[in-house]
Amino acid sequence: MSKIQVMDEVLANKIAAGEVVEKTMNVVKELVENAIDAKSSVIKIKLIDSGVKEIEVSDDGVGMDRDDATLAFSRHATSKLKNLDDLFNIESLGFRGEALPSIASVSNIELKTSDGEVGTYLTLSGGRDLHVEDSDLQQGTTITVKDLFYNTPVRLKYLKNLYVELANIVDYVNKMALSYPDIKFTLINNDKVLLDTDGNGDLLKVIYEIYGVDITRKMIEVNGENDDYSIYGFISYPEMTKSNRGSITTLVNGRVIKNNELNKVIIDCYHTYIPKDKFPIVVLNIDVDPILIDINIHPTKMDIKFSKMDTLKNLVEKLVVEQLKKLTLIPTISVRNEESVRETTIPMKKAFSKEEVVEDNIQYEELSLDFMVAEEKTEYVKSEDTYDVDVPRIKKMIPRGIVYLTYIIAENEDGMYIIDQHAAAERINYEKVLKSLKEKVVVVDLLVPVKIELSANEFLIVKEHFAELEKYGFLVEEFGLNTIIVRSHPNWIFEDVSEECIRKVVDIIIEKEKFDFDQFVWRMAATMACRMSIKANDYISYDDQVYLLDTLSKCENPFTCPHGRPTIITYTKYDLEKLFKRSLD
Ligand code: ZN
Ligand code: ZN
Repeated sequence: MSKIQVMDEVLANKIAAGEVVEKTMNVVKELVENAIDAKSSVIKIKLIDSGVKEIEVSDDGVGMDRDDATLAFSRHATSKLKNLDDLFNIESLGFRGEALPSIASVSNIELKTSDGEVGTYLTLSGGRDLHVEDSDLQQGTTITVKDLFYNTPVRLKYLKNLYVELANIVDYVNKMALSYPDIKFTLINNDKVLLDTDGNGDLLKVIYEIYGVDITRKMIEVNGENDDYSIYGFISYPEMTKSNRGSITTLVNGRVIKNNELNKVIIDCYHTYIPKDKFPIVVLNIDVDPILIDINIHPTKMDIKFSKMDTLKNLVEKLVVEQLKKLTLIPTISVRNEESVRETTIPMKKAFSKEEVVEDNIQYEELSLDFMVAEEKTEYVKSEDTYDVDVPRIKKMIPRGIVYLTYIIAENEDGMYIIDQHAAAERINYEKVLKSLKEKVVVVDLLVPVKIELSANEFLIVKEHFAELEKYGFLVEEFGLNTIIVRSHPNWIFEDVSEECIRKVVDIIIEKEKFDFDQFVWRMAATMACRMSIKANDYISYDDQVYLLDTLSKCENPFTCPHGRPTIITYTKYDLEKLFKRSLD
């Protein structure tokens, strides 16, 4: 090969590196996926400074012979993957052979590999100066990428964002560990272990290594199938939430995928169980015939479409909602044993000690990561009882008084309860409204129709939804310029709050940039329930208290209001005994 051609190739790789490599995470991804393709059972990722200084990935996989090792870094190395559609059928994670030359062009590479017969040691600098010699390695591959981007202007950018880079890598490796519970993954940054799974195939153990004991204790197994899909995985108790949806991991045929529609289905299953800005921790492995999916691959993520989304949605809903309904979720103010509290967030803070922060003169404090936000530390009483619609979810409680005109104090043989009267009433009304929405609408004509003036664009949005509104009992008509008139409302809305409720329903329609039917119904029900419920500071009689508690305990989910806030908390009898030192253990 003439010198000029070689120059061109290195230049081409460097240009490609800008697109393919882009982030240290992408390099880690490429190397880890190569290791998985090599059928490894142990993959160890060692980083120095989030990988910007050094990324070393070692595995015990099949390794390469000398020819393959040498060719791996040249641009036209054969990709193992011939056809995108094969992606979900073959063992390969795909795209092999494309990124390695690009990575090599912007770093210093050291490779040790052995196919069990020949051991090869190879070095490259900026994609040039290939040196090859013998290695004593017996089996597997160890590849070290040093000084990433050393010969490019983007390097500085990365030095400033080590923390974010590391967060992305941790997230990625966690997801791979969840995808391959039978591979032992170890991730180390600057000698600190960030993940260490045991590779024994137990998904819950991987969850434990990633999220810690508190969350693992609050994960429920889900398992089920229908004609098209089969699902296995774990979902968290509603109390165990994270602040971003990165805690939802979905896999299809063992591959981590991204599908917003599926994420939404999962999040919707938790609606009213958790506040709107919180997300459950979920790992769902979906097995499906590859013909039912359509793959769209980006270099950094895998997005797929399901051609039978409806049956998938039904199955996910069935599995998740059924499990949630089985739980008793009353937060208890219990006395915690300090020793039993383990760190539940990824030990990122440990990954950079204070000294290093000073040394590198980088201000990590300024950067915060959503996934590091600690879980809410409420403990919940778990009941193994299975759910039965006719049996109240909470044993009969006897009201003993009200404090601050807001909280009902009650008791039963298990403990003492504090119930938020508004939240409880709201939950009861919410379920009532949802039920009436499913039934045939009975319409009440307004004596004085409600006239609402809107802006031109609001008017257009509302006009588009006249039919939906009518379906729910709101007869709406145009009434002059950008004005609507509402002539009726469903009978479940109390007369005295009807105008307020009608205005609110119109607001909900305007607010949403994209109309979503389920969301609309839930929002409408929650808003109506709130308007129709007793408030804090409203006086309620003893009989009303009894009625409220009895009705609450028969709700489908008596534990949270439709906005995800708790309706009830408890001190168990045992907690009280412990607090007053009546019980010694
Ligand atoms: Zn409310
Ligand atoms: Zn509420």
